[in-house]
Amino acid sequence: MVTYEALTAACLARGAMPAVVPQLKTITLGGALAGVGIESSSHRYGLVHDTVLEFDVLLGDGRVVTCRPDNEHAALFYGFPNSYGTLGYALRVKAKAVPVKPYVRLQHLAFSDPKKFFSELGKRLDAGEADFVDGTIFNENKLFISLGTFADSAPYTSDYTFEKIYYRSIAEKREDYLTISDYLWRWDTDWFWCSKNVLAQNGFCRRFVFGKDRLGSRHYTKIMRWNSRVGATKKIERLLGLHSESVIQDVDVPLARAAEFLDFYKDNVALWPQWICPIGAAAHGASFALYPMRHDWYVNFGFWDVKRTREAHPAGHFNRLIENKVVELGGIKSLYSDSYFPRAEFERLYGGEAYKSLKAKYDPGGAFPGLYEKCVLRA
Ligand SMILES: Cc1cc2nc3c(=O)[nH]c(=O)nc-3n(C[C@H](O)[C@H](O)[C@H](O)COP(=O)(O)OP(=O)(O)OC[C@H]3O[C@@H](n4cnc5c(N)ncnc54)[C@H](O)[C@@H]3O)c2cc1C
Repeated sequence: MVTYEALTAACLARGAMPAVVPQLKTITLGGALAGVGIESSSHRYGLVHDTVLEFDVLLGDGRVVTCRPDNEHAALFYGFPNSYGTLGYALRVKAKAVPVKPYVRLQHLAFSDPKKFFSELGKRLDAGEADFVDGTIFNENKLFISLGTFADSAPYTSDYTFEKIYYRSIAEKREDYLTISDYLWRWDTDWFWCSKNVLAQNGFCRRFVFGKDRLGSRHYTKIMRWNSRVGATKKIERLLGLHSESVIQDVDVPLARAAEFLDFYKDNVALWPQWICPIGAAAHGASFALYPMRHDWYVNFGFWDVKRTREAHPAGHFNRLIENKVVELGGIKSLYSDSYFPRAEFERLYGGEAYKSLKAKYDPGGAFPGLYEKCVLRA
């Protein structure tokens, strides 16, 4: 249950960081292993589960087993990522940490053509010079690659924890410096850009309603949960005659097909901005049964908003379009949010037979729901 906020602070005090630090402070190491965790160091180290060396799992019958890639529980080691607590609960996780320097120098490279953007991204990844790589797409003609490099010293450091907003700085600055801690949490203060939904980007609300201490994912999550419980936004949409669908997704598409995905997204979804993050070819990526990835560069596209339309659509219309496109392009989709896959397709994509045999071995009594029931049917 250790949060990345606490884990990262403890590591930084010793001159290191977890190899991959998901962007939200409240995410836990166990949760990121059971789901899929990513950040701008993923081009070098892969997803969070690629950085894990061993872990203990509490099974449904009370047993605790230690999983390593080379012991009798290797199948669970490779089957646990993306299982979302349906096989057992991770109690102790040993994961890689890597050394840091005190500062990160950022360069924001601007593009107006998606093909050039992804081609340059590929070149930068192959060159392997940057320590951190991610990107922000404000629309199909306004795209940025952000390269971060460790530095021993900095001529100045920017502060995006209160009055200034990080994502806006990307289009405004070509170069920037942050302390390593502020770099790792640069997206948390405004939950990328989603803080606009709770009015935290309005100058008055930001200063006087939120204040510095209440900006950040921890507080926004509470507000969003309250909103979905009481349905406040839904009521307003109904009054305005709008139909809405929550489109909160992270999808991983091979770099070679990334421009095609963006083209589809522009025509069919067009919720901006969009976060992109490259994922490197992890040595055992294909072995993770419930989230298999080929030995290749992938690009994660993250988009988290509500699609509002005047015309009505069947439930999950836009999410289903996205799922179909990702599969067509040879990609894979995270399951932390809404999913609409038919069962047979889901099982084909997320380790069907391997999952069934893990379930039979480690949760024969069905103490936990199945992955399809939990992630698609929301049992
Ligand atoms: C709103 C939102 C924003 C996100 N943003 C990011 C992001 O910026 N970067 C990123 O990398 N990822 C992000 N994710 C994905 C996130 O990494 C995964 O959903 C992860 O599983 C969340 O971990 P958590 O500790 O917050 O767990 P929770 O959200 O509390 O739980 C998520 C799931 O994992 C299971 N679980 C939790 N802990 C364990 C454990 N120890 N053992 C077994 N199962 C467990 C729970 O049963 C649950 O099904 C986001 C997810 C959401 C919902």
